[in-house]
Amino acid sequence: MSEALMPLYARAQIEVERGEGVWLEARDGRRFLDCVAGIATCALGHAHPVLIEALTAQAHKLWHVSNIFRIPGQEELADKLTAATFADYAYFANSGTEAVEAALKIARRYHFAKGQPERIDVIGFAGSFHGRTYGAINASGNPTYLEGFGPRLPGYQQLSIDDMPAIAAAIASPTTAAVIVEPVQGEGGARALDGQTLRELRRLTREHGVLLIFDEVQSGMGRTGKLFAHQWFPGAEPDIMAIAKALGGGFPIGAVLATREAASGMAAGMHGTTFGGNPLAMAVALAVFDVIAQDAALAHVAAMSQRFFHGFGALAARFPDQVVEQRGKGLLMGLKLHANNREVMALAREHGLLVAGGGDNCIRLLPSLLITDSEVDEALARLEATFADARAKGWGKVDAAPVVAAA
Ligand code: PLP
Repeated sequence: MSEALMPLYARAQIEVERGEGVWLEARDGRRFLDCVAGIATCALGHAHPVLIEALTAQAHKLWHVSNIFRIPGQEELADKLTAATFADYAYFANSGTEAVEAALKIARRYHFAKGQPERIDVIGFAGSFHGRTYGAINASGNPTYLEGFGPRLPGYQQLSIDDMPAIAAAIASPTTAAVIVEPVQGEGGARALDGQTLRELRRLTREHGVLLIFDEVQSGMGRTGKLFAHQWFPGAEPDIMAIAKALGGGFPIGAVLATREAASGMAAGMHGTTFGGNPLAMAVALAVFDVIAQDAALAHVAAMSQRFFHGFGALAARFPDQVVEQRGKGLLMGLKLHANNREVMALAREHGLLVAGGGDNCIRLLPSLLITDSEVDEALARLEATFADARAKGWGKVDAAPVVAAA
């Protein structure tokens, strides 16, 4: 194993060679049912033929020209994203954290252009995750990401999403610029906010001239059974939204969507990127969009989610010593565990199942949106085998195990 990679990841010892649909194959021949999907990114599974065709056709034409020129795919994708959402504008970047960074800049610049440069404060929430660039770690609700990276940037605070009076007071402050929130917290442990909370954030921010930013990097692009998670709650539309991950189906891309008003402080030269919105990313993202944005595809997500949650209910009843609770929305699903989630993830790998970790001692399941009935059942069966194994090892909350009659 090479020593040359900076040791920034606690990687699982699987050398993945190829993928197809929900299946991954390692170099040593092991096959895994993939409920990580590149962390909610390979929304159409691995090696989807439509995406291979879109990428290779574009690769034969043009890879990169920079944003000095018009890139037709950008205009087409911007038209589709804005037609499907609250937004008037799209800006393309390369990743989720870049999309968040741009969203934060757009929000501060809005107030600056309105003659209120003192409005710089961004309210975020405990347990949130917005990426790893400097602005994004300051906006995120996890202090460990900040440790050792110099002083906290001014103008960021995190509150509890359950403390609406404190949130209301912070939004009313004359120095507040924006609120940033994930409609479904991903890394924090698949925590879905309800419509009442999102609508209340919308109402309060509008009342005080504060911009509302949704981070749908993980929850967006069909993952919850709507194109974007907040669309479950009419009336809870943001001013600005960061998206990425599934937008490119595995090809790097990020985007910010914004209303004309929210983006009114931005003009040529105020933000930009060399690679963002390049022809390859646009070709793939357009192909992804055309598959996911179909009613039938979104209905399929809802149906597969129901099947999973039905299975989770049965597992929670059979394994109260392992499962604390089930959470999430659509196919952004989490199980809070009694035993250490990292150890259970490793055990699941031994049963040929890949799941992601999450805050609050959760494991997360974020499979391809095209997962089938039988693949859901297979994932549940492997999860059941994992929990049975965990119980046999004495993991979990021992006194919560159902009493088994002696033979
Ligand atoms: N925002 C959310 C909600 C995320 O889940 C992530 C990544 O997990 C990011 C932002 C950062 O995205 P990226 O890793 O593409 O920079």
